[in-house]
Amino acid sequence: PRHVRAVGDVALRRSARHGWVPGGHWDGALRAPATLAADLLRVGAPPEDPAPYVFSTQLGHELALFGLPGGEDDVELRGDPADGDGWTALWFRPGTSTCTAVLTVDRPRDVGAARRLFAGAALPRLDRALARDLARGLRDTALV
Ligand SMILES: Cc1cc2nc3c(=O)[nH]c(=O)nc-3n(C[C@H](O)[C@H](O)[C@H](O)COP(=O)(O)OP(=O)(O)OC[C@H]3O[C@@H](n4cnc5c(N)ncnc54)[C@H](O)[C@@H]3O)c2cc1C
Repeated sequence: PRHVRAVGDVALRRSARHGWVPGGHWDGALRAPATLAADLLRVGAPPEDPAPYVFSTQLGHELALFGLPGGEDDVELRGDPADGDGWTALWFRPGTSTCTAVLTVDRPRDVGAARRLFAGAALPRLDRALARDLARGLRDTALV
């Protein structure tokens, strides 16, 4: 039996989609206590598995990161950071269509798409060539 439970920055959470997810964001500190209490009391629905995410404004740019990028992952760019317009970086398991993380920079449309892509039971699979094309909706590049 588990005798010690923890949430927030100090805790690692097991996600079916992302593996071990570290704390480090206020969203986990805010929402996870209710999940922990429900688990202790054996009430309520099974724990949610929200995608890890971070948002921030840096140097006037709106950043949002969904998922967990892996150090060895391939990175695809959607849009050109040199343009000054919005762009998005996508991480993929090496040589595969399995997307592990999405970082949007001034791309509010991609924020909604990324949130939905990481709402499924498994990591999303995307057509990498299509995903590089800003003219395509990010969600429309998902492989079924
Ligand atoms: C500089 C900075 C910027 C950040 N910016 C963002 C951001 O923009 N967006 C975002 O979502 N998150 C941000 N975070 C992360 C966010 O602050 C944390 O994820 C969140 O505060 C974690 O909450 P927590 O309750 O797990 O831990 P904490 O907020 O660290 O709370 C732990 C508490 O335990 C207390 N404590 C420690 N040891 C003991 C002890 N032995 N006995 C009693 N009390 C003890 C500490 O004093 C503290 O009050 C930022 C963090 C930092 C440091």
